[in-house]
Amino acid sequence: MFKPGHFEGAGMKILVVGSGGREHALVWKLKQSPLVEKIWCASGNGGIAAEAECLAVDPGDTQALAVLAEKIQPDLTVVGPELPLVNGIGDIFREKKWSIVGPSSQAAQLEGSKIFSKEFLLRHHIPTAKMYGAYDNPKEACATLSSVKWPLVIKADGLCAGKGVLLAADSAEATDFIQRVMEQGELGAGGRRVLLEETLEGDELSFIILVDGERYAPLVPTRDHKRIFDGNRGPNTGGMGAYSTDQLLPETLREMILSAIVEPTLHGLAADGIRYQGFLYIGLMLTQEGPKVLEFNCRLGDPETQAIVARMDFDLAEVLAEVAGGQLNSSKLKWKPGASACVVVAAGGYPGKFESGKVIEGLTGVEQINGVKVFHAGTKSHDSQIVTSGGRVLGVTACGDSLEGALSTVYRGVSRISFEGMQYRRDIGAHVRQVQTVGN
Ligand code: AMP
Repeated sequence: MFKPGHFEGAGMKILVVGSGGREHALVWKLKQSPLVEKIWCASGNGGIAAEAECLAVDPGDTQALAVLAEKIQPDLTVVGPELPLVNGIGDIFREKKWSIVGPSSQAAQLEGSKIFSKEFLLRHHIPTAKMYGAYDNPKEACATLSSVKWPLVIKADGLCAGKGVLLAADSAEATDFIQRVMEQGELGAGGRRVLLEETLEGDELSFIILVDGERYAPLVPTRDHKRIFDGNRGPNTGGMGAYSTDQLLPETLREMILSAIVEPTLHGLAADGIRYQGFLYIGLMLTQEGPKVLEFNCRLGDPETQAIVARMDFDLAEVLAEVAGGQLNSSKLKWKPGASACVVVAAGGYPGKFESGKVIEGLTGVEQINGVKVFHAGTKSHDSQIVTSGGRVLGVTACGDSLEGALSTVYRGVSRISFEGMQYRRDIGAHVRQVQTVGN
């Protein structure tokens, strides 16, 4: 197997775990490395199949992934989604001395349990929304509603596929949600406990770092768009688009995030005896009082990854192999100046009920536009055509000298694509504002 940090020629074989747009972006970038000989993806999708060997193994099934790795012997495994991480793929692989990028199940609790994560933030004095309480009894949760400020944020504790957070306007809405998740079990085991917290106001920012167990390196800043419709209306989705520009992160804000949030987080983990290795996504609200943590994710965001990868000007395979070996050299992370954007094209009806199996037209034409890359999310090959197979179908991505340039290229690409019922937001990145440099 590959020895991290020893690059004697090419020949690296990499297993990427996951099947969405984030994993397609990772595969695409890893494949550009002269060090890489082979990429497998478990389980991949219709677009990934054109760039890697897709293997029909459920990305959430850590035992099956271990059996697969035993058989194919990857030199490095890169994990996209949270489920295998929370389920312990990092622990299983590291115990076998297999190189992997992704935190242990204990460290992944930062995402796997909102209550764990909130208690961690409070214990280490890291700025975050005030907590009213954490409850495993719906009556006690409802009793607290008489003494909170509205609107109130209610979070189901566990992984709930993006459906576990509600911004409740009033007591009736809050009570209904608490009953649905805690009594009727609408979100499964993830909703057995809930957290009530104050609502923060401001612009959101996704700040993702790469950590090798000790050292860290920030990735470029991104912002995503969670609501389905233009103008941030309609229900939440997995993400309808993202963009990256350094304008999102003036130097004073960057320093504040590093000193008030990133470093205390890494010190806190070390003080709690938790080694973190992998991507750590810090979801921030930029409030009048300064940046505050909304959430941690133990992996890259989707579609933020697509926008981040578009700006990478370094060998991702080399850097990730070094991370797995505890030898991150942050000076290797070079970025294209300017900006990037990713617009998600979704199935009609998403995030509610939607149909699959719609033939996607125009894919070849899009990539003839200079600089456009289409990352597949919910697609598969069927009778030598690419058809839809999920809610979020494609992520059309490009970079440019400016955000306006990147967006105009991306939307030119989107206009060439068609399938029955397709929908996308027309306002990705439209409201970019120079972020207020709070606190100075
Ligand atoms: P989470 O999974 O905790 O990030 O929550 C998902 C989304 O809910 C975030 O991206 C925010 O848009 C929103 N959110 C979460 N916590 C808060 C909060 N305390 N105040 C306002 N919005 C929040």
